[in-house]
Amino acid sequence: MAEHVVIIGSGPAGWAAAIYTSRANLKPLLFEGAASQENWDLGRPPLGQLAITTEVENYPGFPAGNLASYLDDSVDESKRRYMGPHSGEGVSGPELMELMRQQALNFGTRAVTEDITEVDLSGHPFKLRSSEGTAVECLTVIVATGARANYLGLDSENRFKNMGVSACAVCDGALPRFRDKPLVVVGGGDSAMEEATFLTKFGSKVYIVHRRDALRASRIMADRALANEKIDVKWNSVVEEVLGNDEEGVTGVRIRSTVELEKVEEVGAAGYFAAIGHTPNTEFLQGQLETNEKGYIVWTTAARTFTSVDGVFAAGDVADDYYRQAVTAAGTGCMAALDAERWLAAKGFE
Ligand code: NAP
Repeated sequence: MAEHVVIIGSGPAGWAAAIYTSRANLKPLLFEGAASQENWDLGRPPLGQLAITTEVENYPGFPAGNLASYLDDSVDESKRRYMGPHSGEGVSGPELMELMRQQALNFGTRAVTEDITEVDLSGHPFKLRSSEGTAVECLTVIVATGARANYLGLDSENRFKNMGVSACAVCDGALPRFRDKPLVVVGGGDSAMEEATFLTKFGSKVYIVHRRDALRASRIMADRALANEKIDVKWNSVVEEVLGNDEEGVTGVRIRSTVELEKVEEVGAAGYFAAIGHTPNTEFLQGQLETNEKGYIVWTTAARTFTSVDGVFAAGDVADDYYRQAVTAAGTGCMAALDAERWLAAKGFE
């Protein structure tokens, strides 16, 4: 029998949709993604982007304070063990995501730790197939697969991945190879500021390489980074090559000026962190939903989570290249759940 609601993705949008659809008795099936090395390497692990971040200071309801006993009470012990002790600083990304997941499971959401790799949205019920070969038919789909970090696309980035090249300072910054060494962050947005500031805990110096003379980051994040005496900005510069060798991994970067084109400089560094934006995780849809020029799923009706296929809804960063916040993702996850519930009722599906 066809499922009423299948949710694809396990970030704030996915779990919010799951909480609402399970409380509406729609018994959602949620594909949370495979816990594979490939998904981690690509920056799209189960539980989404918040699984690879530290403190979350801007999710309403989680002021600084000691959440430890609440976490112990509400999240399964097996999960608590790998999350480590609570820091007292608001809530961490992984803590917040485990809380959302548990909340959805409490209401009867069934989670499957697999990727959806194939979809057929051309007929109804829709047909989905997972990485493990699980086949599902469903009446509605909520796509909440998020977005992942971009790289510049240099061969040398690829060569030194896991040897000093990363797109997630929070995941990798504490590794011994980066301790007390100079590090490089590429980008001028909030992610670059956040990563650079975080890396000053470990590195001796952090260079931000930015292609313009003005930052894109919000004022508060930029001011915090620029006031940090361990951070230096290489303005009007692009990374041309990540330098290194097989024994040591990354040893530096070669940067070129964007104003004096012949000006080239080598900056010694043990780490290279890309923080240059994101790509939505839509490949598995194989073009079956309308997307914008950046590949994000389009909402076909203003302020509704409807997509170009009737009965398929989109929520979170996969449909949002503008706000991209945990709280907006959770909000649109709720909207998608209500849209799916109303769609099923209008079509007479019990
Ligand atoms: P972003 O705002 O799109 O910034 C990307 C940065 O990378 C820009 O400075 C851009 O340069 C640069 N860039 C892009 N492609 C490049 C290339 N090929 N070569 C060199 N530089 C390149 O992305 P983001 O920083 O990941 O932030 C995304 C969203 O998440 C934003 O809305 C942000 O506010 C939010 N965010 C919030 C927080 C927080 O509040 N804690 C933390 C992280 C992110 P240009 O400026 O020249 O375009």
